[in-house]
Amino acid sequence: MAIATVNPATGAVEREFTPMSDAEVEAALAAAAGAVTALRRTTFAQRAEWMRAAADLLDADAGELAKTMTREMGKTVKSAEAEVRKSATGCRFYAEHAESFLAPEPVDPDAVGADRAYSVYQPLGVVLAVMPWNFPVWQVLRFAAPALMAGNVGLLKHASNVPQTAEYLGTLFERAGFPAGSFANLRIGSAGVEKVLRDDRVAAATLTGSEGAGRSVAAIAGDALKKTVLELGGSDPFLVLPSADVAKAAETAVTARCQNNGQSCIAAKRFIAHADVYDEFLDAFTRGMANLKVGDPAAEGTDVGPVATEQGRTDLVELVADAVEKGAKVLTGGDVPEGPGWFYPPTVLVDVDPSMRLYHEETFGPVAVVYRAADLDAAIEVANATAFGLGAVAWTRDEAEQERCVAELASGAVTINGMTVSYPALPFGGVKRSGYGRELSAAGIREFCNLKAVWVK
Ligand code: NAP
Repeated sequence: MAIATVNPATGAVEREFTPMSDAEVEAALAAAAGAVTALRRTTFAQRAEWMRAAADLLDADAGELAKTMTREMGKTVKSAEAEVRKSATGCRFYAEHAESFLAPEPVDPDAVGADRAYSVYQPLGVVLAVMPWNFPVWQVLRFAAPALMAGNVGLLKHASNVPQTAEYLGTLFERAGFPAGSFANLRIGSAGVEKVLRDDRVAAATLTGSEGAGRSVAAIAGDALKKTVLELGGSDPFLVLPSADVAKAAETAVTARCQNNGQSCIAAKRFIAHADVYDEFLDAFTRGMANLKVGDPAAEGTDVGPVATEQGRTDLVELVADAVEKGAKVLTGGDVPEGPGWFYPPTVLVDVDPSMRLYHEETFGPVAVVYRAADLDAAIEVANATAFGLGAVAWTRDEAEQERCVAELASGAVTINGMTVSYPALPFGGVKRSGYGRELSAAGIREFCNLKAVWVK
């Protein structure tokens, strides 16, 4: 994939970038390695001051940065700006809490025959972050804020279709006061990742993206015996049970499916309604999807912009065609509009079964499938009939049902009577083929730390 800004609303190539040469990558690695000791020796208070300055820069730049994000990956300007502000909040969260999350943990000295014993979290060094385009600022900050606050150095390999956003992020932390080399953008394609990952100066890697990219990075890191965190795809279920507020569930379901033009790992993608409320839910949900305004993401009032890449739209077209050929019904959407840009309408399908790709694969765009379930057991069975396990939502006011959903839905998060959202204070990550490890919360900042045991006599 060429490193370029290609506007998804028009299909026009707006700006092309030359990948870094080997010498430039070497210089970035050397600078990163050079920053490890300097950053490790700074205090939490010092890093917190810089991290707050980074948050202030994000807030100040939010308007302009949002426009760049929209031109590069097609999300609405409104949602792009909200993403930048959320990222600033994430920076402030770790500025405030990093020290307590990483506080030394005392151990009873008598239990180990010492005068003093404790464990302490220390930074690992340089961490490579391979990041996707769909939340091009938030995904990066969600890694960078805890990593830098822990005293780690970050090297960013961003998605090739968001190079201007990547350049902005590559200079953000130095602008905020962090030592030179603490965080830098590596302008390389995916083929350049292996060499960097194998470099002895790189201690670990995190990847947010597709299963294929995750497998590749994990295999190389495994061979090189380096720690990884993987945040991969999802095909989240959204259950609607008889005691739910069905109108509210349907309204939330529309947002949960179509946020970010349908391109969110934690978007609800499979809607499973109990037979008692199936018709009511399906009707309200289909109307809500059909009423969304699709159009120019830079215009105010647009709900759904284009899919980020031509290939992304082709993938949706093929998934829907395969299902329709095998007997699925399209209730709204399903047709590619004429004209430039990679638009795809909010689409609802029913009568989807396991013979269809749509039943098993992630739909990265505004395509929803609605299933009917005879009871809670059947709903949970369909919900878990996926290789993924990122988030899961259930709408029910019945406490026993809520507890069963929390206990039995196979996912990294369960949300009751709402939609899956990532919060700095809650851990974020998946099970099964959605990946491993956690971001955010105390768990996220500890992932790239050496938990050192200390024994003193
Ligand atoms: P992608 O193609 O996997 O790209 C993600 C990043 O990985 C990009 O920087 C890409 O670089 C790089 N990459 C791709 N193949 C690689 C390889 N073989 N080796 C090393 N790096 C490689 O994913 P995407 O299409 O941008 O993003 C969509 C996917 O990400 C969806 O499955 C979505 O669910 C998932 N996602 C997960 C989370 C989460 O938190 N769990 C969050 C957001 C998205 P290039 O751009 O240069 O190819």
